[in-house]
Amino acid sequence: MRVQSSPWDVAVVGGGASGTLLAIHLLRQARAPFRILLVERGGQVGQGLAYSTRSQRHLLNVPAARMGAFAEEPEHFLRWLRQETPDTEGGDFVPRLRYGQYLDAVLEESIARAPQGVQLETLSGEVTSAREHGGLVTLTTRGGVELVARAVVLALGNANPADLRVEDGGLYTSPRYHRSPWAPGALDGIGADDTVLLIGTGLTMVDAVLSLEERGHRGALHALSRHGLLPHRHPRTVLQGTYASPGIRDVLRALRDHGLRAPEQAHPIPVRVRALLRVLRHEVRRATDAGASWRSVVDALRPVTVPLWQRLDSGERRRFLRHLRAYWDVHRHRMAPDVADGLERLRTQGRLRLHAARVRSFHLDDADAVRVRVRRRGERREEDLQVHHVVNCTGPEGDVTRHGHPLLHRLAEEGRARPDALGLGLDTDGHGALLDARGHAGGRLFTLGPLRRGELWETTAVPEIRAQARALSEHLLKRLGRGFVAPRRSAG
Ligand SMILES: Cc1cc2nc3c(=O)[nH]c(=O)nc-3n(C[C@H](O)[C@H](O)[C@H](O)COP(=O)(O)OP(=O)(O)OC[C@H]3O[C@@H](n4cnc5c(N)ncnc54)[C@H](O)[C@@H]3O)c2cc1C
Repeated sequence: MRVQSSPWDVAVVGGGASGTLLAIHLLRQARAPFRILLVERGGQVGQGLAYSTRSQRHLLNVPAARMGAFAEEPEHFLRWLRQETPDTEGGDFVPRLRYGQYLDAVLEESIARAPQGVQLETLSGEVTSAREHGGLVTLTTRGGVELVARAVVLALGNANPADLRVEDGGLYTSPRYHRSPWAPGALDGIGADDTVLLIGTGLTMVDAVLSLEERGHRGALHALSRHGLLPHRHPRTVLQGTYASPGIRDVLRALRDHGLRAPEQAHPIPVRVRALLRVLRHEVRRATDAGASWRSVVDALRPVTVPLWQRLDSGERRRFLRHLRAYWDVHRHRMAPDVADGLERLRTQGRLRLHAARVRSFHLDDADAVRVRVRRRGERREEDLQVHHVVNCTGPEGDVTRHGHPLLHRLAEEGRARPDALGLGLDTDGHGALLDARGHAGGRLFTLGPLRRGELWETTAVPEIRAQARALSEHLLKRLGRGFVAPRRSAG
């Protein structure tokens, strides 16, 4: 067992993009002495779910020039890419695995350039419990190792998709069902000519289709979701021509001047979903009249999305999730142009069919086939789809009571963390400190990234995570009395 001489200042649990970006910011900002521990159950830091793919076909859905690890240097990733491939353009959508390599390189560089006495240690292990005592937190790993820290950040990221709550007829325990397309070897067992049903029509489904294609799959593909909507595409000229949407600019200005308290009548800040939709539609008309794309309006919303979300009360947030989420997702999270071309080709060939429908039940007909009972959107009649395999592409499950993460489950059970009201993640304060069952922030346990979805809504893409990582790093350093030094510009 490891013998720990003194507590780590910060222990980060989870070495995906969020945990790695936080560690990078801490290393660049901390004053010595300062010790950081980064614990990752998968062994390899800097990758996590999104960037551990080995497929060259899984592309970033954000152009290279916007993926830098630092908000003040969004082109940092692009410059890093150009060291090896000088002709990379800012608008290119490069393989996601390159981003994992980049984060690893930036972490290494940050370790090497940190002041003497500012150190990072990485540990391979799964943390299963966290106990607060006397101003410290003790983490315990599955192997029984105890780790003591002054503050802990849970960067646990994306959970596996949850099973649909329908009659499964034994499917969920059979080899015909693939609960997560991201698990290693997840698509093994699907034959080249098998018919496959993909539940979900978003970017997770797109990933699964690309993986199947790469494996030489030739069979029919059905993709199904309640609305049957496919993500829109990025144009190839994604970085050219910016259009600053005037209405959204007004909202931004009003938020800056009046913060979250500005009354709706006095300022153009919608506090209802219907009003928000009206502003958006109006802005899209204005943009199109000015010869710009609707995409520029959606992109202009990015800096105001969090404050707008926070002005909606929980009833309005629910309304958004029920009626608008599917439309928001396909407009906001778009496909790289090459990926969109590939999907279009499959649809034209008739190999990929989209369905707007709900699954009612699954039934294993024999060892070879799955009968899926579905009800199409707007119809009462039910019908059957016959497939060989079902792949769950509904995306990461947010409800911590459903996704079976041992550490989160335990924290929630002990009342030291609580799910947010919408079941999208955990309740946190403005800095990312976990709120306990009574709504109090103990101030030693924090989170960032996908688990803050309930509070922030947009919290999963790198541009949002890097801003959170920096803000949380500053907050922790201030709290722990290790000052904040202005970040150095990177050499990269
Ligand atoms: C498929 C996919 C593609 C995406 N593409 C893009 C993109 O192109 N551009 C963009 O900006 N954003 C993209 N995103 C969004 C965003 O970048 C990711 O969600 C981001 O990777 C989140 O990182 P994370 O570290 O919070 O979570 P994760 O990547 O899920 O990492 C969490 C890590 O924590 C570890 N962990 C969990 N529990 C424990 C424990 N108890 N003990 C120790 N370790 C633990 C896990 O093993 C994992 O490595 C994508 C997301 C997905 C899912």
